Amino acid sequence: MPPDAIRRGTSSLKLRILGGIFIVFFLSMGMVLYVTWTYQRDRLVEQTSRHALQTGLLIEAGLRTSMLLNDRRATMETIRKMLRLKGFSLINVMNNRGEVVMSSDPAQIGHILDKRKEQSCLVCHVDTRTAPTRTAVVMDSPQGEYLRTVTVIANEPACYSCHAAQDKMVGILVIDSSLEEMNRLISAMSRRVVLSGMGGFLLGFFLLHLIVTRFLTRPLDRLLDGFTRIARGDFDYWVDVRCGGEIQDMATCFNVMSRTIGRYVVEVGRKKAEVETHYTIAEVLGQTIERKVLKEVVVDLLCKVLDAAAVTLVLLQENKEGLFEVVHTEKSDQRHYHYLFTLESGEDVPGGLEREEIRKLVHHGYVQPVFSKRGDRLLVPIQLKGMQMGLACVVKEKGAVFTMDERKIVPVLTHHITISFANARLYSMAVTDGLTSLYTKRYFNLKLDENVDRVHEGGPGFCVMILDLDHFKEVNDTHGHPVGDRVLARIADLVRESIRHGDIPCRYGGEEFVVLLKGESQADAVRIAERIRRRVSGHRFVIGTIPPFRRTISIGLACFPRHADTAVEIVAAADAALYRAKARGRNRVEIFAGWTEQ
Ligand code: GH3
Ligand code: MG
Ligand code: MG
Repeated sequence: MPPDAIRRGTSSLKLRILGGIFIVFFLSMGMVLYVTWTYQRDRLVEQTSRHALQTGLLIEAGLRTSMLLNDRRATMETIRKMLRLKGFSLINVMNNRGEVVMSSDPAQIGHILDKRKEQSCLVCHVDTRTAPTRTAVVMDSPQGEYLRTVTVIANEPACYSCHAAQDKMVGILVIDSSLEEMNRLISAMSRRVVLSGMGGFLLGFFLLHLIVTRFLTRPLDRLLDGFTRIARGDFDYWVDVRCGGEIQDMATCFNVMSRTIGRYVVEVGRKKAEVETHYTIAEVLGQTIERKVLKEVVVDLLCKVLDAAAVTLVLLQENKEGLFEVVHTEKSDQRHYHYLFTLESGEDVPGGLEREEIRKLVHHGYVQPVFSKRGDRLLVPIQLKGMQMGLACVVKEKGAVFTMDERKIVPVLTHHITISFANARLYSMAVTDGLTSLYTKRYFNLKLDENVDRVHEGGPGFCVMILDLDHFKEVNDTHGHPVGDRVLARIADLVRESIRHGDIPCRYGGEEFVVLLKGESQADAVRIAERIRRRVSGHRFVIGTIPPFRRTISIGLACFPRHADTAVEIVAAADAALYRAKARGRNRVEIFAGWTEQ
Protein backbone atom coordinates (compact mmCIF):
# COMPACT_ATOMS: atom_id res chain seq x y z
CA MET A 1 0.00 0.00 0.00
CA PRO A 2 1.50 3.37 -0.94
CA PRO A 3 2.13 5.68 2.07
CA ASP A 4 -0.36 8.24 0.73
CA ALA A 5 -3.14 5.65 0.86
CA ILE A 6 -2.74 5.28 4.65
CA ARG A 7 -5.83 6.60 6.38
CA ARG A 8 -4.98 9.62 8.50
CA GLY A 9 -5.63 9.52 12.21
CA THR A 10 -7.60 7.23 14.44
CA SER A 11 -10.97 8.95 13.88
CA SER A 12 -12.52 5.67 12.81
CA LEU A 13 -11.33 3.88 15.95
CA LYS A 14 -12.40 6.82 18.10
CA LEU A 15 -15.82 6.86 16.46
CA ARG A 16 -16.26 3.15 17.09
CA ILE A 17 -15.11 3.27 20.70
CA LEU A 18 -17.12 6.37 21.56
CA GLY A 19 -20.12 5.06 19.59
CA GLY A 20 -19.96 1.80 21.55
CA ILE A 21 -19.58 3.60 24.85
CA PHE A 22 -22.40 5.95 23.91
CA ILE A 23 -24.80 3.07 23.21
CA VAL A 24 -23.84 1.05 26.32
CA PHE A 25 -23.85 4.12 28.52
CA PHE A 26 -27.14 5.34 27.07
CA LEU A 27 -28.85 1.98 27.58
CA SER A 28 -27.52 1.43 31.11
CA MET A 29 -28.34 5.02 32.12
CA GLY A 30 -31.83 4.62 30.62
CA MET A 31 -32.36 1.38 32.51
CA VAL A 32 -31.20 2.86 35.81
CA LEU A 33 -33.39 5.90 35.31
CA TYR A 34 -36.37 3.77 34.33
CA VAL A 35 -35.98 1.49 37.36
CA THR A 36 -35.56 4.50 39.65
CA TRP A 37 -38.56 6.22 38.14
CA THR A 38 -40.86 3.17 38.39
CA TYR A 39 -39.70 2.46 41.93
CA GLN A 40 -40.41 6.04 43.01
CA ARG A 41 -43.74 6.06 41.20
CA ASP A 42 -44.85 2.79 42.79
CA ARG A 43 -43.82 4.08 46.17
CA LEU A 44 -45.86 7.22 45.62
CA VAL A 45 -48.89 5.23 44.53
CA GLU A 46 -48.48 2.91 47.53
CA GLN A 47 -48.10 5.84 49.90
CA THR A 48 -51.14 7.53 48.43
CA SER A 49 -53.17 4.31 48.72
CA ARG A 50 -52.07 3.76 52.33
CA HIS A 51 -52.86 7.33 53.12
CA ALA A 52 -56.29 7.01 51.51
CA LEU A 53 -57.02 3.83 53.47
CA GLN A 54 -56.07 5.42 56.77
CA THR A 55 -58.17 8.43 55.88
CA GLY A 56 -61.04 6.06 55.05
CA LEU A 57 -60.75 4.42 58.47
CA LEU A 58 -60.66 7.83 60.14
CA ILE A 59 -63.76 8.96 58.25
CA GLU A 60 -65.46 5.71 59.05
CA ALA A 61 -64.73 6.29 62.77
CA GLY A 62 -65.97 9.88 62.52
CA LEU A 63 -69.17 8.90 60.69
CA ARG A 64 -69.84 5.97 62.99
CA THR A 65 -70.41 8.39 65.96
CA SER A 66 -72.91 10.52 64.09
CA MET A 67 -74.55 7.43 62.60
CA LEU A 68 -74.90 5.90 66.09
CA LEU A 69 -76.73 9.03 67.15
CA ASN A 70 -78.83 8.34 64.08
CA ASP A 71 -78.36 11.95 63.13
CA ARG A 72 -78.45 11.89 59.36
CA ARG A 73 -78.05 15.64 59.03
CA ALA A 74 -74.94 15.67 61.25
CA THR A 75 -73.57 12.70 59.31
CA MET A 76 -74.08 14.47 55.97
CA GLU A 77 -72.49 17.59 57.45
CA THR A 78 -69.46 15.52 58.51
CA ILE A 79 -69.26 14.05 55.01
CA ARG A 80 -69.33 17.49 53.36
CA LYS A 81 -66.67 18.83 55.78
CA MET A 82 -64.48 15.83 55.14
CA LEU A 83 -64.91 16.37 51.41
CA ARG A 84 -63.82 20.01 51.66
CA LEU A 85 -61.06 19.38 54.20
CA LYS A 86 -59.35 16.45 52.51
CA GLY A 87 -60.07 17.39 48.95
CA PHE A 88 -61.93 14.14 48.14
CA SER A 89 -64.03 14.10 45.02
CA LEU A 90 -66.73 11.78 46.32
CA ILE A 91 -67.77 10.11 49.61
CA ASN A 92 -70.49 7.49 49.42
CA VAL A 93 -71.96 5.44 52.23
CA MET A 94 -73.71 2.30 51.03
CA ASN A 95 -75.84 -0.14 52.92
CA ASN A 96 -75.37 -3.91 52.73
CA ARG A 97 -77.40 -4.12 49.53
CA GLY A 98 -75.07 -1.71 47.74
CA GLU A 99 -77.53 1.19 47.80
CA VAL A 100 -76.02 4.62 48.32
CA VAL A 101 -77.66 5.95 51.42
CA MET A 102 -75.50 8.94 52.01
CA SER A 103 -73.30 10.75 49.53
CA SER A 104 -71.44 13.97 49.07
CA ASP A 105 -73.13 13.98 45.66
CA PRO A 106 -76.91 14.08 46.21
CA ALA A 107 -77.40 12.61 42.73
CA GLN A 108 -75.80 9.40 43.90
CA ILE A 109 -78.28 8.79 46.75
CA GLY A 110 -80.49 5.87 46.02
CA HIS A 111 -78.15 4.53 43.36
CA ILE A 112 -77.54 0.82 43.75
CA LEU A 113 -74.16 -0.63 42.92
CA ASP A 114 -74.48 -4.30 41.91
CA LYS A 115 -71.11 -5.89 42.63
CA ARG A 116 -71.82 -8.60 40.05
CA LYS A 117 -72.41 -6.12 37.23
CA GLU A 118 -70.87 -2.83 38.19
CA GLN A 119 -67.57 -2.52 36.42
CA SER A 120 -65.94 -0.52 39.20
CA CYS A 121 -66.87 -3.31 41.71
CA LEU A 122 -65.45 -6.07 39.55
CA VAL A 123 -61.99 -4.52 39.79
CA CYS A 124 -61.75 -5.72 43.39
CA HIS A 125 -64.39 -8.52 43.48
CA VAL A 126 -62.58 -10.92 41.19
CA ASP A 127 -65.25 -13.45 41.94
CA THR A 128 -68.67 -12.09 42.98
CA ARG A 129 -68.79 -14.43 45.94
CA THR A 130 -65.42 -13.42 47.31
CA ALA A 131 -64.32 -10.46 49.35
CA PRO A 132 -62.58 -7.66 47.43
CA THR A 133 -58.92 -8.37 46.81
CA ARG A 134 -57.93 -4.77 47.32
CA THR A 135 -59.34 -1.89 49.27
CA ALA A 136 -57.76 0.94 47.31
CA VAL A 137 -57.62 0.89 43.57
CA VAL A 138 -56.80 3.34 40.81
CA MET A 139 -59.82 3.82 38.58
CA ASP A 140 -60.16 5.27 35.13
CA SER A 141 -62.81 7.77 34.17
CA PRO A 142 -63.29 10.15 31.27
CA GLN A 143 -62.12 12.94 33.62
CA GLY A 144 -58.90 11.07 34.40
CA GLU A 145 -57.61 8.62 36.98
CA TYR A 146 -58.81 8.68 40.56
CA LEU A 147 -58.26 6.54 43.65
CA ARG A 148 -61.19 4.63 45.12
CA THR A 149 -60.92 3.49 48.74
CA VAL A 150 -63.46 1.02 50.00
CA THR A 151 -63.85 0.72 53.83
CA VAL A 152 -66.16 -1.78 55.44
CA ILE A 153 -68.28 -0.31 58.25
CA ALA A 154 -68.24 -3.24 60.60
CA ASN A 155 -71.29 -4.24 62.67
CA GLU A 156 -70.88 -3.96 66.42
CA PRO A 157 -73.13 -4.14 69.47
CA ALA A 158 -73.71 -0.39 69.44
CA CYS A 159 -75.25 -0.79 66.00
CA TYR A 160 -77.66 -3.60 66.90
CA SER A 161 -80.35 -1.11 67.66
CA CYS A 162 -80.69 -0.43 63.97
CA HIS A 163 -78.89 -3.37 62.35
CA ALA A 164 -79.40 -7.07 62.74
CA ALA A 165 -76.81 -8.61 65.04
CA GLN A 166 -75.96 -11.40 62.57
CA ASP A 167 -74.82 -8.89 59.91
CA LYS A 168 -71.02 -8.65 59.74
CA MET A 169 -71.12 -5.14 58.41
CA VAL A 170 -73.57 -2.34 58.46
CA GLY A 171 -72.43 -0.65 55.29
CA ILE A 172 -69.57 0.32 52.99
CA LEU A 173 -67.76 3.60 52.84
CA VAL A 174 -66.52 4.48 49.35
CA ILE A 175 -64.19 7.42 49.07
CA ASP A 176 -62.95 8.68 45.70
CA SER A 177 -59.95 10.92 45.87
CA SER A 178 -58.27 12.70 43.02
CA LEU A 179 -54.81 11.51 41.88
CA GLU A 180 -53.94 14.97 40.68
CA GLU A 181 -51.47 15.60 43.51
CA MET A 182 -49.83 12.22 43.05
CA ASN A 183 -49.58 12.69 39.29
CA ARG A 184 -48.10 16.14 39.83
CA LEU A 185 -45.49 14.61 42.12
CA ILE A 186 -44.79 11.83 39.63
CA SER A 187 -44.32 14.24 36.76
CA ALA A 188 -42.08 16.49 38.93
CA MET A 189 -40.09 13.42 39.87
CA SER A 190 -39.94 12.33 36.21
CA ARG A 191 -38.64 15.74 35.19
CA ARG A 192 -35.93 15.59 37.83
CA VAL A 193 -34.98 12.04 36.92
CA VAL A 194 -34.76 12.89 33.22
CA LEU A 195 -32.81 16.12 33.80
CA SER A 196 -30.37 14.61 36.29
CA GLY A 197 -30.06 11.54 34.03
CA MET A 198 -29.29 13.67 30.98
CA GLY A 199 -26.82 15.80 32.94
CA GLY A 200 -25.12 12.71 34.31
CA PHE A 201 -25.08 11.13 30.88
CA LEU A 202 -23.56 14.19 29.19
CA LEU A 203 -20.99 14.68 31.96
CA GLY A 204 -20.07 10.99 31.92
CA PHE A 205 -19.84 10.89 28.16
CA PHE A 206 -17.70 14.04 28.11
CA LEU A 207 -15.33 12.55 30.70
CA LEU A 208 -15.13 9.27 28.80
CA HIS A 209 -14.42 11.19 25.61
CA LEU A 210 -11.56 13.02 27.36
CA ILE A 211 -10.12 9.78 28.74
CA VAL A 212 -10.38 7.94 25.40
CA THR A 213 -8.79 10.87 23.55
CA ARG A 214 -6.03 11.48 26.09
CA PHE A 215 -5.01 7.90 26.73
CA LEU A 216 -5.96 6.06 23.56
CA THR A 217 -6.77 7.84 20.34
CA ARG A 218 -4.29 10.75 20.57
CA PRO A 219 -1.30 8.48 21.36
CA LEU A 220 -2.44 6.09 18.63
CA ASP A 221 -2.74 9.05 16.23
CA ARG A 222 0.87 9.97 16.93
CA LEU A 223 1.99 6.37 16.52
CA LEU A 224 0.15 6.14 13.21
CA ASP A 225 1.75 9.41 12.14
CA GLY A 226 5.14 7.87 12.98
CA PHE A 227 4.41 4.77 10.91
CA THR A 228 3.31 6.94 7.98
CA ARG A 229 6.54 8.95 8.19
CA ILE A 230 8.58 5.73 8.22
CA ALA A 231 6.67 4.47 5.20
CA ARG A 232 7.72 7.71 3.45
CA GLY A 233 11.35 7.17 4.45
CA ASP A 234 11.55 9.74 7.27
CA PHE A 235 13.36 7.86 10.02
CA ASP A 236 14.13 10.97 12.12
CA TYR A 237 10.56 11.42 13.28
CA TRP A 238 10.19 11.02 17.05
CA VAL A 239 6.83 9.84 18.35
CA ASP A 240 6.09 11.93 21.45
CA VAL A 241 3.60 9.95 23.53
CA ARG A 242 3.14 10.49 27.26
CA CYS A 243 0.18 8.42 28.20
CA GLY A 244 1.91 5.67 30.14
CA GLY A 245 1.02 2.01 29.82
CA GLU A 246 1.25 -0.21 26.79
CA ILE A 247 0.87 2.55 24.19
CA GLN A 248 3.74 4.49 25.79
CA ASP A 249 5.83 1.27 25.62
CA MET A 250 4.84 0.82 21.98
CA ALA A 251 5.91 4.40 21.19
CA THR A 252 9.26 3.87 22.93
CA CYS A 253 9.83 0.65 20.99
CA PHE A 254 8.75 2.43 17.80
CA ASN A 255 11.26 5.26 18.35
CA VAL A 256 14.08 2.80 19.00
CA MET A 257 13.03 0.79 15.94
CA SER A 258 12.82 3.84 13.63
CA ARG A 259 16.27 5.03 14.77
CA THR A 260 17.72 1.56 14.13
CA ILE A 261 16.10 1.29 10.70
CA GLY A 262 17.28 4.84 9.92
CA ARG A 263 20.85 3.89 10.82
CA TYR A 264 20.65 0.78 8.65
CA VAL A 265 19.17 2.73 5.74
CA VAL A 266 22.00 5.28 5.92
CA GLU A 267 24.51 2.42 6.13
CA VAL A 268 22.92 0.62 3.17
CA GLY A 269 22.89 3.90 1.19
CA ARG A 270 26.58 4.40 1.98
CA LYS A 271 27.38 0.83 0.98
CA LYS A 272 25.40 1.24 -2.23
CA ALA A 273 27.31 4.41 -3.08
CA GLU A 274 30.55 2.58 -2.28
CA VAL A 275 29.64 -0.34 -4.53
CA GLU A 276 28.62 2.08 -7.29
CA THR A 277 31.95 3.88 -6.96
CA HIS A 278 33.82 0.56 -7.12
CA TYR A 279 31.81 -0.37 -10.17
CA THR A 280 32.51 3.01 -11.79
CA ILE A 281 36.24 2.65 -11.07
CA ALA A 282 36.35 -0.87 -12.52
CA GLU A 283 34.22 0.09 -15.52
CA VAL A 284 36.15 3.27 -16.36
CA LEU A 285 39.58 1.71 -15.92
CA GLY A 286 38.48 -1.33 -17.92
CA GLN A 287 37.78 0.89 -20.94
CA THR A 288 41.37 0.87 -22.10
CA ILE A 289 44.69 -0.82 -21.67
CA GLU A 290 46.68 1.71 -23.68
CA ARG A 291 48.77 3.94 -21.51
CA LYS A 292 48.17 6.97 -23.74
CA VAL A 293 44.40 6.78 -23.23
CA LEU A 294 44.69 5.51 -19.65
CA LYS A 295 46.45 8.70 -18.55
CA GLU A 296 43.41 10.79 -19.46
CA VAL A 297 40.97 8.23 -18.09
CA VAL A 298 42.77 8.24 -14.73
CA VAL A 299 42.78 12.00 -14.26
CA ASP A 300 39.09 12.14 -15.18
CA LEU A 301 38.30 9.31 -12.78
CA LEU A 302 40.16 10.94 -9.88
CA CYS A 303 38.44 14.22 -10.62
CA LYS A 304 34.99 12.59 -10.63
CA VAL A 305 35.26 10.11 -7.75
CA LEU A 306 37.05 12.51 -5.38
CA ASP A 307 35.08 15.56 -6.56
CA ALA A 308 38.31 17.44 -7.19
CA ALA A 309 38.90 20.89 -8.62
CA ALA A 310 42.09 19.79 -10.42
CA VAL A 311 44.10 16.61 -10.98
CA THR A 312 47.68 16.32 -12.20
CA LEU A 313 49.27 13.01 -13.15
CA VAL A 314 53.05 12.71 -13.42
CA LEU A 315 54.39 9.53 -15.05
CA LEU A 316 57.98 8.36 -15.21
CA GLN A 317 59.26 7.21 -18.58
CA GLU A 318 61.05 3.92 -18.32
CA ASN A 319 63.69 4.37 -20.97
CA LYS A 320 64.12 8.12 -20.52
CA GLU A 321 65.39 8.88 -17.08
CA GLY A 322 64.60 12.37 -15.81
CA LEU A 323 61.80 12.92 -18.34
CA PHE A 324 58.22 13.01 -16.99
CA GLU A 325 54.93 12.87 -18.83
CA VAL A 326 52.38 15.18 -17.22
CA VAL A 327 48.61 15.22 -17.75
CA HIS A 328 46.57 17.94 -16.07
CA THR A 329 42.82 18.51 -15.99
CA GLU A 330 40.51 20.91 -14.22
CA LYS A 331 36.90 20.40 -13.30
CA SER A 332 36.00 23.82 -14.70
CA ASP A 333 37.05 23.13 -18.33
CA GLN A 334 37.49 19.32 -18.40
CA ARG A 335 40.22 19.46 -21.05
CA HIS A 336 43.45 17.47 -20.86
CA TYR A 337 46.76 19.31 -20.91
CA HIS A 338 49.81 17.19 -21.80
CA TYR A 339 53.38 18.26 -20.98
CA LEU A 340 56.86 16.78 -20.95
CA PHE A 341 58.83 17.89 -17.94
CA THR A 342 62.38 17.53 -16.63
CA LEU A 343 63.55 18.46 -13.18
CA GLU A 344 66.56 20.19 -14.66
CA SER A 345 64.52 22.41 -16.99
CA GLY A 346 63.94 25.17 -14.43
CA GLU A 347 60.34 25.54 -15.58
CA ASP A 348 57.49 25.58 -13.12
CA VAL A 349 56.16 22.19 -12.23
CA PRO A 350 52.84 21.75 -14.08
CA GLY A 351 49.65 21.37 -12.06
CA GLY A 352 50.96 23.02 -8.92
CA LEU A 353 53.14 20.09 -7.89
CA GLU A 354 56.23 20.85 -5.86
CA ARG A 355 59.61 20.11 -7.47
CA GLU A 356 60.51 18.37 -4.22
CA GLU A 357 57.50 16.08 -4.53
CA ILE A 358 58.59 14.90 -7.98
CA ARG A 359 62.10 14.38 -6.69
CA LYS A 360 60.69 12.31 -3.82
CA LEU A 361 58.70 10.29 -6.35
CA VAL A 362 61.88 9.42 -8.23
CA HIS A 363 63.53 8.30 -5.01
CA HIS A 364 60.65 5.97 -4.07
CA GLY A 365 59.56 8.34 -1.30
CA TYR A 366 55.87 7.57 -1.62
CA VAL A 367 54.46 4.29 -0.46
CA GLN A 368 50.86 5.17 0.18
CA PRO A 369 48.43 8.08 -0.40
CA VAL A 370 49.22 11.25 1.56
CA PHE A 371 46.64 13.87 2.53
CA SER A 372 47.69 17.45 3.22
CA LYS A 373 47.28 18.73 6.78
CA ARG A 374 44.26 20.82 5.80
CA GLY A 375 42.74 17.79 4.07
CA ASP A 376 42.28 19.59 0.74
CA ARG A 377 45.11 18.02 -1.28
CA LEU A 378 46.06 14.41 -1.90
CA LEU A 379 49.10 12.73 -3.41
CA VAL A 380 48.44 9.27 -4.84
CA PRO A 381 51.60 7.26 -5.61
CA ILE A 382 51.34 4.79 -8.49
CA GLN A 383 53.80 2.08 -7.59
CA LEU A 384 53.75 -1.69 -7.67
CA LYS A 385 56.13 -3.91 -5.76
CA GLY A 386 58.65 -1.14 -5.37
CA MET A 387 58.41 -0.09 -9.02
CA GLN A 388 57.55 3.61 -9.09
CA MET A 389 55.34 4.47 -12.07
CA GLY A 390 54.01 7.88 -11.22
CA LEU A 391 52.22 10.25 -8.87
CA ALA A 392 48.78 11.86 -9.00
CA CYS A 393 48.03 15.12 -7.24
CA VAL A 394 44.35 15.72 -6.43
CA VAL A 395 43.28 19.18 -5.27
CA LYS A 396 39.89 20.08 -3.80
CA GLU A 397 37.88 23.20 -4.51
CA LYS A 398 38.84 26.21 -2.41
CA GLY A 399 37.48 25.73 1.11
CA ALA A 400 36.50 22.09 0.54
CA VAL A 401 38.14 19.04 2.12
CA PHE A 402 38.01 15.31 1.41
CA THR A 403 35.01 13.66 3.07
CA MET A 404 35.29 10.46 5.11
CA ASP A 405 33.70 8.46 2.28
CA GLU A 406 36.19 9.90 -0.22
CA ARG A 407 39.11 9.11 2.11
CA LYS A 408 37.77 5.56 2.44
CA ILE A 409 37.75 4.99 -1.31
CA VAL A 410 41.30 6.34 -1.91
CA PRO A 411 43.21 3.07 -1.13
CA VAL A 412 40.91 1.07 -3.45
CA LEU A 413 41.16 3.73 -6.13
CA THR A 414 44.95 3.81 -5.82
CA HIS A 415 45.11 0.04 -6.08
CA HIS A 416 42.94 -0.09 -9.22
CA ILE A 417 44.86 2.74 -10.91
CA THR A 418 48.18 1.09 -10.12
CA ILE A 419 47.00 -2.25 -11.51
CA SER A 420 45.71 -0.51 -14.63
CA PHE A 421 49.07 1.19 -15.26
CA ALA A 422 50.90 -2.09 -14.60
CA ASN A 423 48.63 -3.83 -17.14
CA ALA A 424 49.12 -0.96 -19.60
CA ARG A 425 52.89 -1.36 -19.14
CA LEU A 426 52.68 -5.09 -19.88
CA TYR A 427 50.47 -4.41 -22.87
CA SER A 428 52.84 -1.72 -24.07
CA MET A 429 55.71 -4.19 -23.75
CA ALA A 430 53.71 -6.69 -25.77
CA VAL A 431 53.00 -4.25 -28.60
CA THR A 432 56.24 -2.26 -28.56
CA ASP A 433 59.49 -3.17 -30.22
CA GLY A 434 62.32 -3.36 -27.71
CA LEU A 435 64.99 -1.74 -29.91
CA THR A 436 63.10 1.19 -31.39
CA SER A 437 60.16 1.59 -28.93
CA LEU A 438 57.90 1.65 -31.98
CA TYR A 439 54.83 -0.54 -32.15
CA THR A 440 55.26 -4.11 -33.34
CA LYS A 441 54.04 -5.59 -36.62
CA ARG A 442 51.28 -7.43 -34.73
CA TYR A 443 49.99 -4.14 -33.32
CA PHE A 444 50.15 -2.57 -36.77
CA ASN A 445 48.06 -5.40 -38.23
CA LEU A 446 45.54 -5.01 -35.43
CA LYS A 447 45.19 -1.27 -36.01
CA LEU A 448 45.12 -1.78 -39.77
CA ASP A 449 42.17 -4.18 -39.47
CA GLU A 450 40.37 -1.73 -37.17
CA ASN A 451 40.89 1.10 -39.67
CA VAL A 452 39.73 -1.00 -42.62
CA ASP A 453 36.57 -1.97 -40.68
CA ARG A 454 35.95 1.65 -39.75
CA VAL A 455 36.17 2.71 -43.42
CA HIS A 456 33.74 -0.06 -44.38
CA GLU A 457 31.38 1.29 -41.74
CA GLY A 458 31.55 4.74 -43.32
CA GLY A 459 34.47 6.14 -41.33
CA PRO A 460 37.40 8.20 -42.67
CA GLY A 461 40.09 6.66 -44.85
CA PHE A 462 43.81 6.34 -44.07
CA CYS A 463 47.24 5.84 -45.71
CA VAL A 464 49.99 3.27 -45.22
CA MET A 465 53.63 4.24 -45.50
CA ILE A 466 56.37 1.57 -45.72
CA LEU A 467 59.97 2.73 -45.15
CA ASP A 468 63.13 0.75 -45.93
CA LEU A 469 66.69 1.90 -45.25
CA ASP A 470 68.83 1.99 -48.34
CA HIS A 471 71.75 -0.41 -48.43
CA PHE A 472 71.57 -0.94 -44.71
CA LYS A 473 73.51 -4.14 -44.99
CA GLU A 474 76.59 -1.97 -45.59
CA VAL A 475 76.27 -0.40 -42.12
CA ASN A 476 76.31 -3.77 -40.46
CA ASP A 477 79.07 -4.95 -42.69
CA THR A 478 81.18 -1.82 -42.14
CA HIS A 479 80.56 -0.96 -38.47
CA GLY A 480 79.04 -4.08 -37.02
CA HIS A 481 75.52 -4.99 -35.76
CA PRO A 482 75.53 -2.90 -32.54
CA VAL A 483 76.13 0.27 -34.57
CA GLY A 484 73.44 -0.87 -36.99
CA ASP A 485 71.05 -1.23 -34.01
CA ARG A 486 71.78 2.29 -32.82
CA VAL A 487 71.18 3.64 -36.30
CA LEU A 488 67.82 1.85 -36.39
CA ALA A 489 66.86 3.31 -32.98
CA ARG A 490 67.83 6.83 -34.08
CA ILE A 491 65.88 6.52 -37.32
CA ALA A 492 62.87 5.38 -35.31
CA ASP A 493 63.15 8.62 -33.30
CA LEU A 494 63.34 10.66 -36.52
CA VAL A 495 60.22 8.92 -37.82
CA ARG A 496 58.36 9.49 -34.55
CA GLU A 497 59.32 13.16 -34.48
CA SER A 498 58.22 13.69 -38.09
CA ILE A 499 54.67 12.28 -37.90
CA ARG A 500 51.49 13.73 -36.39
CA HIS A 501 49.70 12.95 -33.13
CA GLY A 502 47.44 10.01 -33.99
CA ASP A 503 49.67 8.48 -36.67
CA ILE A 504 50.90 5.00 -35.66
CA PRO A 505 54.62 4.24 -36.28
CA CYS A 506 55.65 0.55 -36.21
CA ARG A 507 58.73 -1.54 -36.83
CA TYR A 508 57.64 -3.84 -39.61
CA GLY A 509 60.70 -6.09 -39.44
CA GLY A 510 64.51 -5.79 -39.87
CA GLU A 511 65.28 -2.33 -41.17
CA GLU A 512 61.75 -1.73 -42.41
CA PHE A 513 59.19 0.54 -40.76
CA VAL A 514 55.54 1.15 -41.43
CA VAL A 515 53.36 4.10 -40.43
CA LEU A 516 49.56 4.09 -40.34
CA LEU A 517 48.65 7.67 -41.29
CA LYS A 518 45.26 9.08 -40.27
CA GLY A 519 43.19 10.63 -43.06
CA GLU A 520 43.11 9.58 -46.67
CA SER A 521 44.73 12.74 -48.05
CA GLN A 522 47.47 11.64 -50.39
CA ALA A 523 49.04 15.11 -50.32
CA ASP A 524 49.34 15.02 -46.52
CA ALA A 525 50.84 11.53 -46.67
CA VAL A 526 53.42 12.63 -49.28
CA ARG A 527 54.29 15.70 -47.20
CA ILE A 528 54.94 13.58 -44.12
CA ALA A 529 56.91 10.98 -46.11
CA GLU A 530 59.08 13.69 -47.66
CA ARG A 531 59.65 15.17 -44.21
CA ILE A 532 60.91 11.81 -42.95
CA ARG A 533 63.03 11.20 -45.98
CA ARG A 534 64.66 14.65 -45.69
CA ARG A 535 65.30 14.31 -41.96
CA VAL A 536 66.88 10.87 -42.38
CA SER A 537 69.06 11.90 -45.30
CA GLY A 538 70.04 15.12 -43.52
CA HIS A 539 70.97 13.40 -40.28
CA ARG A 540 74.59 12.86 -39.32
CA PHE A 541 75.01 9.66 -37.38
CA VAL A 542 77.61 10.20 -34.69
CA ILE A 543 78.16 6.93 -32.89
CA GLY A 544 81.11 6.40 -30.60
CA THR A 545 84.50 6.92 -32.16
CA ILE A 546 83.59 5.94 -35.69
CA PRO A 547 83.51 8.74 -38.28
CA PRO A 548 80.06 10.33 -38.68
CA PHE A 549 78.06 9.06 -41.63
CA ARG A 550 74.70 9.58 -43.33
CA ARG A 551 72.00 7.17 -44.55
CA THR A 552 69.01 7.45 -46.83
CA ILE A 553 65.57 5.86 -46.78
CA SER A 554 63.04 4.85 -49.46
CA ILE A 555 59.31 5.22 -48.82
CA GLY A 556 56.29 3.68 -50.53
CA LEU A 557 52.78 5.09 -50.00
CA ALA A 558 49.26 3.80 -50.60
CA CYS A 559 45.90 5.19 -49.52
CA PHE A 560 42.74 3.42 -48.38
CA PRO A 561 40.23 3.01 -49.92
CA ARG A 562 41.62 4.72 -53.02
CA HIS A 563 44.31 2.05 -53.73
CA ALA A 564 42.93 -1.03 -52.02
CA ASP A 565 39.86 -2.77 -50.62
CA THR A 566 41.43 -4.98 -47.95
CA ALA A 567 44.18 -4.85 -45.35
CA VAL A 568 46.38 -7.23 -47.33
CA GLU A 569 45.90 -5.19 -50.50
CA ILE A 570 46.86 -1.87 -48.93
CA VAL A 571 50.09 -3.30 -47.49
CA ALA A 572 50.89 -4.90 -50.83
CA ALA A 573 50.20 -1.60 -52.59
CA ALA A 574 52.51 0.35 -50.25
CA ASP A 575 55.13 -2.35 -50.64
CA ALA A 576 54.81 -2.10 -54.41
CA ALA A 577 55.33 1.68 -54.18
CA LEU A 578 58.43 1.07 -52.02
CA TYR A 579 59.73 -1.39 -54.58
CA ARG A 580 59.30 1.32 -57.20
CA ALA A 581 61.20 3.82 -55.04
CA LYS A 582 64.06 1.35 -54.74
CA ALA A 583 63.91 0.63 -58.43
CA ARG A 584 63.97 4.33 -59.29
CA GLY A 585 67.18 4.96 -57.40
CA ARG A 586 66.30 4.92 -53.67
CA ASN A 587 66.09 7.94 -51.26
CA ARG A 588 62.68 8.75 -52.69
CA VAL A 589 58.99 8.69 -51.95
CA GLU A 590 56.68 6.83 -54.33
CA ILE A 591 52.91 6.57 -54.34
CA PHE A 592 51.14 3.45 -55.47
CA ALA A 593 50.32 3.94 -59.15
CA GLY A 594 48.40 0.77 -59.97
CA TRP A 595 49.53 -2.78 -60.49
CA THR A 596 50.33 -2.34 -64.16
CA GLU A 597 52.72 0.54 -63.50
CA GLN A 598 54.98 -1.45 -61.16
P1 GH3 B 1 68.15 -2.24 -49.89
O1 GH3 B 1 67.08 -2.35 -48.94
O2 GH3 B 1 68.48 -0.87 -50.20
O3 GH3 B 1 67.87 -3.02 -51.12
O4 GH3 B 1 69.46 -2.83 -49.32
P2 GH3 B 1 69.60 -3.49 -47.92
O5 GH3 B 1 70.95 -3.78 -47.69
O6 GH3 B 1 68.98 -2.54 -46.91
O7 GH3 B 1 68.73 -4.73 -48.08
P3 GH3 B 1 68.78 -6.14 -47.45
O8 GH3 B 1 67.43 -6.69 -47.35
O9 GH3 B 1 69.68 -6.96 -48.42
O10 GH3 B 1 69.50 -6.07 -46.14
C1 GH3 B 1 68.83 -5.82 -44.93
C2 GH3 B 1 69.76 -5.83 -43.84
O11 GH3 B 1 69.30 -5.29 -42.63
C3 GH3 B 1 70.24 -7.22 -43.50
C4 GH3 B 1 70.44 -7.21 -42.05
O12 GH3 B 1 71.76 -7.39 -41.70
C5 GH3 B 1 70.00 -5.87 -41.63
N1 GH3 B 1 69.22 -5.99 -40.48
C6 GH3 B 1 67.95 -6.47 -40.40
N2 GH3 B 1 67.50 -6.41 -39.13
C7 GH3 B 1 68.49 -5.86 -38.38
C8 GH3 B 1 68.62 -5.54 -36.99
O13 GH3 B 1 67.73 -5.76 -36.19
N3 GH3 B 1 69.79 -4.99 -36.59
C9 GH3 B 1 70.79 -4.74 -37.47
N4 GH3 B 1 71.90 -4.22 -37.03
N5 GH3 B 1 70.67 -5.06 -38.76
C10 GH3 B 1 69.56 -5.60 -39.22
MG1 MG C 1 64.67 -4.44 -46.22
MG1 MG D 1 66.93 -1.98 -46.94
